[in-house]
Amino acid sequence: MKSKPDLVQVLQCEGIELKQKGRVLWGRCPLHQDSSPSFKVDPERQTFHCFGCGAGGDVISFVQARRKVSFTEALGILGIRSGRTTRPDPDKSKKRELVKAFRLWCRDHAIALARDLRALRGIVAGIRSPEDLEHRAWAYDEIPVIEYQLDVLQYGDDEAKYHLRKKAMANG
Ligand SMILES: [Zn+2]
Repeated sequence: MKSKPDLVQVLQCEGIELKQKGRVLWGRCPLHQDSSPSFKVDPERQTFHCFGCGAGGDVISFVQARRKVSFTEALGILGIRSGRTTRPDPDKSKKRELVKAFRLWCRDHAIALARDLRALRGIVAGIRSPEDLEHRAWAYDEIPVIEYQLDVLQYGDDEAKYHLRKKAMANG
C-alpha cells in the first residue's frame, strides 16, 4: 500500500486548527458542532479521537467521516491506489479475469489460425492435376476466411475480436 498521507497535514488542509499539548494536538472537531476543542490527534500514532461525538481512527476513517464516503472512495481522495488494505472489488477482479482470458484466447486462436493457413497453403501448393483441384478447391475458399480472421486478431479492435470469438465458440 502506498503510504498514507500525514493525518495532521490532511487536517490542516481541511482548515482545522490544532494546538499542541504535550505529544498530542487538540482542536475543534470538524465532524460535529464542537464548541470546545474535544478533537485529539496523535501525530505519532497517526490517529484521532473525538471526545464529543466519539469519532476516531486514522486518516482514512477521517476522510470517510468528513466526506461521507466509502473506504474505497476515501482511498481515492487520498491518492492511495492499491494495496493490501484495499478491499478487492469482486466485479473488477472478475472483469480482469475475463479480459485476461479473452486476450489469451486471441493469442491462442491466432496461433491456431496461422497453423491452419500454412496447412491450407500446403494443400493448394500440392495441386498438380484437375482431379487434385476438384478435391482441394475448398482450400482456395478457406484461405481468405482464415486470412481475414488473422487480420482481425492482429489489427482489429476488441469488438471485432469479440465477435470473432463468439462465432468461433458457436462453431465449437
Ligand atoms: Zn466530534
